[in-house]
Amino acid sequence: MAATYENDNIFAKILRGLIPCHKVYEDDDAIAFMDVMPQSDGHVLVLPKAASRNLLDADPAVLAKLAPLLQRMAVAAKAAFDADGISLMQFNEGAGGQTVFHLHFHIIPRYDGVPLNAHGRGMEDPEVLAANAGKLRAALAV
Ligand code: 5GP
Repeated sequence: MAATYENDNIFAKILRGLIPCHKVYEDDDAIAFMDVMPQSDGHVLVLPKAASRNLLDADPAVLAKLAPLLQRMAVAAKAAFDADGISLMQFNEGAGGQTVFHLHFHIIPRYDGVPLNAHGRGMEDPEVLAANAGKLRAALAV
């Protein structure tokens, strides 16, 4: 049987304001906040607010509405962190590397020849996350 969405996942709790986050952006349909275990400085997560586990059960209309924000955030992240490139990553189900089961996209600044930190390991200093969220907000405002 296919797995279903469970609204006690960490990101659902962030969306309901039950758990804090370093917020970068929010509108009626989406939110973006810093990943607490960044794979590179400036690693930000972009989520539609609509409930789905991942890409496999998402409403195509939700995806269509989110795509421009993904582009905007990628452009802002490249500028804010003076990156050489951006990795956009998204994992589906445990076998696909997913650990939090509310659809989200990783936007990760990349630098020539620099490997990523491990996925989902090593908590960042909250002050660094707050500063990086500020850099992204400033770049989005340009
Ligand atoms: P996934 O493996 O599901 O694609 O990615 C989940 C991401 O969420 C990981 O990169 C992990 O570091 C991040 N993460 C896990 N728990 C929290 C949390 O409580 N707050 C935030 N902001 N990120 C989290």
